[in-house]
Amino acid sequence: GTQPMTDQTAPAVEVRNLSKHYGDFVALKNVNVTIAAGEYFVLLGPSGGGKTTLLRTIGGFHKPTKGEILLHGKSVGHLPPDKRPTTMVFQAYALFPHMTVTQNVGYGLKVAGLPKDQIVEKVDYALEQVGLSQFTHRKPHELSGGQQQRVQLARAIVLDRDILLLDEPLAALDAQLRKDMCLELKHLQEKVGITFIHVTHNQEEAMTVADRIALIANGDLVEFGKARDIYRAPEKSFTASFVGENNMLKGRVAEANGSSVTVDVAGSKLTVDKRGLNVTDGQEVNLSIRSECVALDRVNGTNAPADGLSILGTYDESVYLGLTTSHMARLPDGTEMVSRVISDTDDTLPEANAPVRLSWKPGDIRLHVE
Ligand code: ATP
Repeated sequence: GTQPMTDQTAPAVEVRNLSKHYGDFVALKNVNVTIAAGEYFVLLGPSGGGKTTLLRTIGGFHKPTKGEILLHGKSVGHLPPDKRPTTMVFQAYALFPHMTVTQNVGYGLKVAGLPKDQIVEKVDYALEQVGLSQFTHRKPHELSGGQQQRVQLARAIVLDRDILLLDEPLAALDAQLRKDMCLELKHLQEKVGITFIHVTHNQEEAMTVADRIALIANGDLVEFGKARDIYRAPEKSFTASFVGENNMLKGRVAEANGSSVTVDVAGSKLTVDKRGLNVTDGQEVNLSIRSECVALDRVNGTNAPADGLSILGTYDESVYLGLTTSHMARLPDGTEMVSRVISDTDDTLPEANAPVRLSWKPGDIRLHVE
């Protein structure tokens, strides 16, 4: 059919208490997430975390073990993939090789028995939306990978499928093309306005396209938010480690009163905002600091600075990466810390094992209890 299948005012997707087991293996544990209509939502996480399982369960290719999925407010537990308002965009472009672009896009409408003039109108509109009006007579093998993807998107548009499921859509592309296509996908989604749910393990890709990112690992939806919030203010240690480059320091709470906490780390007492978290004296906690927020300086003498915002270590080595240089130092407990700075023309470095101070600003260190 070509009528909208469901209520357009409800969230596009509501996943409630969803678990998925494969035999004894738990691929998803009690996942809850709500995705707004028109949102570009990314599932990001390490390989094997459960991203594809979640996407395919939303699309109806897997049955949930527990829990419920609502699409535009309607429970879809019983519906097969083709009766859902979703379309899966496959990495191996699932187009009919012998049909033209126009025929590929119109195929579903033809099967549904729509009159020819309506098919032409809908297909023209969809191809214009995705910028393929110039390519109507080409066959799939005469199109680039990105153009083939746009044909798939046009197919979803003509069928009024307004939730697009994309599983690693750019994985097959080389790095430069991947960057270009990323932005193109984002612009397409903004123009067409349908909901995109995009699975990737590539954080740069996720940050480029997403309105919101959900981090998934070990079957858990660990955390979600805008790219900026996930980067600047990660709640969980996992998020801090997985996104961007972070220093993760293990410590023990020495004192937790008022709005800040003092944490013992490798013989130094560090001060960190409590962020309303519940911590008690002696508790083991993690502290994260982005490597670009750490300054590394040579020091004379070995007394640990007592400002709570720095720690002493010994210089290890530096890696020049063009735009940036990573300077590495070792703390007394063996932890390595990285200070990443914009590369300087002055390339004199400390001698190996020279005492150095690693320091940061108060807002740049974060406390994590899990
Ligand atoms: P990737 O990025 O590698 O695709 P992913 O986050 O998408 O990873 P899933 O494909 O959802 O992860 O898989 C999650 C876990 O479930 C993996 O450990 C995988 O081996 C397991 N799994 C997936 N499908 C099945 C299946 N049909 N039977 C048994 N185990 C499965």
